[in-house]
Amino acid sequence: MSSEAKTPILRSCIKLPLANDELLEVIAKAKDYAIMHGAAMRSKISYSADSLNFAPFVLVPSSFPRKEFEKAVALQPIINRLMHNVAHDEEFITTTLAETIKVDEFTANLFNIYRKVLANGFTQRISLGMLRSDLMLESDCPELSPVLERPAAATVAANDAAMSDDVGAVEQQLDAKLNLANVRKCNKELNGSVGASTASSAYCCWKQVEINTIASGFGHLGPASKTIQSFVLTELGHAEKIKRMPKNNALAGLCDGMVKAWDIYAKPQAVILFIIEDVSYNICDQRFHEFYIRENYPHIKVLRRTLTDVHRDGKLGQRKELLLGTTEVAVIYFRAGYEPGHYHSQNEWDARYLMECSLAIKCPSIHYHLAGTKKVQQALAQPAVLERFINDPEEIKAVGKIFTGLYSLDDNEAGNASYEMALRTPEKFVLKPQREGGGNNVYGVDIPNALKRMTRVERSAWILMDLIHPPLSQGYMVRPGGDMPPQIVDMVSELGIFGVVIGDADNILHNYQAGHMLRTKLSTANEGGVAAGLGALDSPYLI
Ligand code: ADP
Ligand code: MG
Ligand code: MG
Repeated sequence: MSSEAKTPILRSCIKLPLANDELLEVIAKAKDYAIMHGAAMRSKISYSADSLNFAPFVLVPSSFPRKEFEKAVALQPIINRLMHNVAHDEEFITTTLAETIKVDEFTANLFNIYRKVLANGFTQRISLGMLRSDLMLESDCPELSPVLERPAAATVAANDAAMSDDVGAVEQQLDAKLNLANVRKCNKELNGSVGASTASSAYCCWKQVEINTIASGFGHLGPASKTIQSFVLTELGHAEKIKRMPKNNALAGLCDGMVKAWDIYAKPQAVILFIIEDVSYNICDQRFHEFYIRENYPHIKVLRRTLTDVHRDGKLGQRKELLLGTTEVAVIYFRAGYEPGHYHSQNEWDARYLMECSLAIKCPSIHYHLAGTKKVQQALAQPAVLERFINDPEEIKAVGKIFTGLYSLDDNEAGNASYEMALRTPEKFVLKPQREGGGNNVYGVDIPNALKRMTRVERSAWILMDLIHPPLSQGYMVRPGGDMPPQIVDMVSELGIFGVVIGDADNILHNYQAGHMLRTKLSTANEGGVAAGLGALDSPYLI
């Protein structure tokens, strides 16, 4: 995806560029601030368990339209309920994944565990869902016009104010326009219920990239980004702008979810188990979850173990409780187990199955994991499918609008039509396998070759998705070992909204939105994983 000259721009919250001296000084402080506030990672280049690098970050927060942010937040409990219902729909999961598991070994292994657990009956009926719905703004949306500067035909008034060096004046003008738009929208929606009118809308200027049901990271790094950027804004003399950065209680919201599950399990001595990779580069994000729990609930212990450890030390007790040695596990939080590389041998698969059979409350349980596959997302985007999971027509409409075009590549008529379409206009699409963790997709012009290398049947391991075209923002990205001072670069952002949902097939006990995270990448990069080294921590500045 190269940034095209005509891609509209979300203006920066402060006037750029900064003078070199000021820039160097604030960056030197901000790097230390980041490390000292836990916005850090282990280095992949020179790994040491004894040291940390700051995580790449965008110097000042990126602008994000307030209305769109609020809609995403309001919609999250509905998405939580949707995913909870999907996870508990055996027939839907089985039919949807039927073709995929014939050719995708990893998904097939997960599905086999699901099948075996189904056959034996679920020992633990409660699931803990800690989801993250990721989205990108779609530049083409007319309702974004007030906040976008179009290089060719930017709003005259906004331009004038920007030229006059008064970012505040631009904000006031845009606020006035947005308020007008809101009033018109509210008038249209007066007949709807309050909840529906916030969540649904005649327009939604963003599209869901994906929904994560396993290892939804950045519960700590999301809020930490706001902390760094608040510090930077204050250093630069813009402290008043902090109030436009929405509060972010992601860490508390997610950890409280784990603790609620622990309470449901109701065994005072039982622990919360984090399943981790052999090496955790994203260590701060994980440890801050652990530390938050210990600091706020001193009676709850967290253990960190790999799948290999669980295979070695784990067994089921008489009530099918999961025991690590003699320690009982109440809640299992998977920060690993979402990619084939985490399963070195059958041992790790056996460990996953053992945990699935146990009484422990899993985040995610196997059916939640399967509900988060790209194939399921593609199926949910098909007409009339949402009706199976959501009753309220307003909510169906609202959720339906967040999907961009998603196409099956199964070996049938529809799948073959998508295949032909991808060969004809590959630049419009991204091709996705059933994988998590970034770096697995194929983009644009690379798609035809990738597809032609597959057999017809192999294609059903993949889905095709319309590319989303987010507006650009411009600013400084600060990364370990990066150029000093950095250049102003074109960037695009992806917002993640966290949700927590706890319940069983019949009841939802807890369902809430739990903060957010913003990741920003160079506009020329296809993917923006921060841990993968391509993206940077960021937080929204609402305009
Ligand atoms: P993963 O589960 O590996 O994170 P994603 O579906 O989130 O997979 O894709 C990885 C990245 O690819 C996203 O973070 C985003 O930067 C980019 N991407 C994915 N889908 C789209 C899309 N439809 N349009 C534009 N970029 C996309
Ligand atoms: Mg994912
Ligand atoms: Mg993703």
